[in-house]
Amino acid sequence: MNYEKAKRVIRESEYLVCLLGRNVSTDTGCLLYREENAYVIEAKYGYSQEEMFSTAFYLNRPRQFFEFYREEILKKRGEPNACHHTLARMQKDGRLKTIITREIFNLAKRGGCTNVLALHGNIYDNFCPHCQTWYGMDYMLNSDPFPVCQKCGKIVKPQVCLNGEMLDNLKVTEAAHEVSKADVLMVLGCTLRSSLASTCLKYFSGKTIILINEEEDYSDTKADYVCHGRAKDVLPQIYP
Ligand SMILES: [Zn+2]
Repeated sequence: MNYEKAKRVIRESEYLVCLLGRNVSTDTGCLLYREENAYVIEAKYGYSQEEMFSTAFYLNRPRQFFEFYREEILKKRGEPNACHHTLARMQKDGRLKTIITREIFNLAKRGGCTNVLALHGNIYDNFCPHCQTWYGMDYMLNSDPFPVCQKCGKIVKPQVCLNGEMLDNLKVTEAAHEVSKADVLMVLGCTLRSSLASTCLKYFSGKTIILINEEEDYSDTKADYVCHGRAKDVLPQIYP
């Protein structure tokens, strides 16, 4: 595969923004986004992960919510891969401005990236919904059956967007602003029809879209440069 065009586009870009999709996360060991895992989860807990990872479950069945959250999300949060490390290098070099993602595992930041807009929040930040006291990963992992605020006794809430919750409007506005400034948009690990891409693409008025995703899709034709491969394999070759 010849990456010369993508290399040149990146080298000549003035404001490069990256949309980091869910397929990049499945290549890290975290299981939440894997479809084949959905059946295992449902058999184990008796509910689908969509049902359990919801505001309704958090509010009404906190024991079950946090058992699922600890075992399937916190303990299987994966490790950053070569894609995240390459993005971190690109940011360090001043080549990449902003990463926008719906991923909640903080993989980009854990891989060394700095400017990351996590539209759905992240599992490392947890707050008491009453007094706003912050709690970290260790506290969440070690609270059985569920994490309670040490100051006021309320159940701590992970700062992630659960099913049934609205996206944080401020973050969406910020993402829209970043995309509107971009001359090149690099979409990794999702199709151009994915929720992440469709949320952001309508604000893009730049000249080039680079798409790196393992699955082919009819929407690929909207991209100027398409590479069907895993971002963790392809991106380090485009930006060696
Ligand atoms: Zn509290």
